[in-house]
Amino acid sequence: MTPDAVAAPTPKTAPPKLNPVRVHITEEAVKDRTTDFREVLHAYSKEDAVLEAKRCIQCRRPWCVEACPITQDCREYIRLIADGDFPGAARVTLQENPLATCLCKVCYHYCEDSCVVKKKGVPIAIRHLKRAALEYGDSDLAYVPSKPKNQRVAVVGAGPAGLMMAWELAVRGYSITVFEQEHRYGGLMQTIPAYRMTDADVETDRKRFRNLDVTFVDDTKVGREYPFDKLIREDGYQAVFIAIGTPSHRSLGVPGENLPGVLPALDFLKHVNQGIPVTVGKEVVVIGGGDVAMDSVRTALRESHGGRVTLVYRRSRQEMPADPEEVHGAEQEGIRFLFLKAPLRIAGSNHVEGLVVQSMELGPPDAGGRRTPIPVPGSEETIACDTVVVAVGQKADLTGFGPELDLKLTSQGWPEGKGKGFETAVPGIFAAGGRSVVYAMGAAMEVANAIDAYLSAKRGEAPAPRPDPLGGTESFHLPPGYTAPIRV
Ligand SMILES: Cc1cc2nc3c(=O)[nH]c(=O)nc-3n(C[C@H](O)[C@H](O)[C@H](O)COP(=O)(O)OP(=O)(O)OC[C@H]3O[C@@H](n4cnc5c(N)ncnc54)[C@H](O)[C@@H]3O)c2cc1C
Ligand code: SF4
Ligand code: SF4
Repeated sequence: MTPDAVAAPTPKTAPPKLNPVRVHITEEAVKDRTTDFREVLHAYSKEDAVLEAKRCIQCRRPWCVEACPITQDCREYIRLIADGDFPGAARVTLQENPLATCLCKVCYHYCEDSCVVKKKGVPIAIRHLKRAALEYGDSDLAYVPSKPKNQRVAVVGAGPAGLMMAWELAVRGYSITVFEQEHRYGGLMQTIPAYRMTDADVETDRKRFRNLDVTFVDDTKVGREYPFDKLIREDGYQAVFIAIGTPSHRSLGVPGENLPGVLPALDFLKHVNQGIPVTVGKEVVVIGGGDVAMDSVRTALRESHGGRVTLVYRRSRQEMPADPEEVHGAEQEGIRFLFLKAPLRIAGSNHVEGLVVQSMELGPPDAGGRRTPIPVPGSEETIACDTVVVAVGQKADLTGFGPELDLKLTSQGWPEGKGKGFETAVPGIFAAGGRSVVYAMGAAMEVANAIDAYLSAKRGEAPAPRPDPLGGTESFHLPPGYTAPIRV
């Protein structure tokens, strides 16, 4: 090369082209779906799943995996679906996700919020592709336990956190007993309406536990029927995980709340799911702005057989914490939304006759960043109704869990240990939960590692990563390019 010759620029690889348009997810028509509890969303066909998976550009840094609280390797199952390998995709999914059948229907898909395609259009339908993996791959697999470690762990609560813990530790060879106060499993997932998921989905997931050393003890409320301290003192469990969540209703605290016709949302949703008769009138008002309120309005619509359902929320639409997908579903179904109205009292003599509300205006943001509602004087009005569903939050029941545990109650109500790995003030006893199914599982994953470390030390061994729960030789590792968790 002569001294003044210019080297040809190295050709750059063109960045992969983003297709911003999602393959359409079909659903039941509004006029059909609001008369019963049929599932609203349809699964992708195999062909559509492959087309949608091909939109994924297989980012070198897996933003989607980093945003998933259980680090589900969704990039890998999407790659396998794009190749038409559904059995492989199901295997990858179930290797890291023991509640995949539930999550492929109800996860709030934090992964999709972080998907790079979202910058240009609609993110990859990562949750719906998980469903395709399980529909068309072999999902009736059985988890394989490791060599028994001869150490027993008690789990209190069979919600997502408790089930995740049972799986995490049982596949490592621990012997697990799960105590549950109800006769069904799944925790608050039991209250999710059948048009989104059913108890059968929980059972499909739980069936894969069949070869693990997990004993389920139902109808047993630890702390009341079964003294908590007995677990370690008499039963010989070497560690305990408290995963009791928020099974109790939080009331409004306004006059008239005990009138017939006022229904706590959790009982209402649970009873409808279990086929227990619930009386719903023709003018229903639901109070709240979260996901429980969204499930309540849509359930009330189906139960009211042609009645009118109104949602009353004290802030504006922008402040509503509910999942936008659920809000959209409610709007499509004709729910009436009344924003900036706060309940003052429930009117009626022998039964609900109306809800007295006061208008609000928004003031400066509170500590959580949401604008505070401020009452507008002289703005009282009555909304005529015959049924009121109260969906303003849930709380834990700590009966029988003593002060020596020094539990912290989170802002959304579940108890947590304050130590590393959510350990309580009593060594070997841990407590955690989460604001959604997958967040509760993510917390349990962290606690499982802490319990494994605690029990391994007792055996004089170093803790090891989770083995392949499907009997393969590779233990758990983060996917290539993974940098750090993204929490949304
Ligand atoms: C109506 C509704 C809809 C929702 N929709 C979604 C959704 O679409 N997607 C999503 O990701 N999340 C959703 N959530 C939130 C999600 O269900 C919870 O975040 C999650 O279930 C929390 O899991 P957990 O295991 O921490 O607690 P929980 O689910 O509350 O489970 C705790 C379990 O412990 C049991 N228990 C409590 N005390 C005791 C005791 N003393 N002894 C024995 N057992 C006990 C309870 O009966 C329960 O089974 C919804 C919640 C509700 C209420
Ligand atoms: S579990 Fe939820 S957040 Fe994780 S990959 Fe699946 S849909 Fe996304
Ligand atoms: S972030 Fe989106 S495009 Fe990138 S690997 Fe994940 S799903 Fe595919």
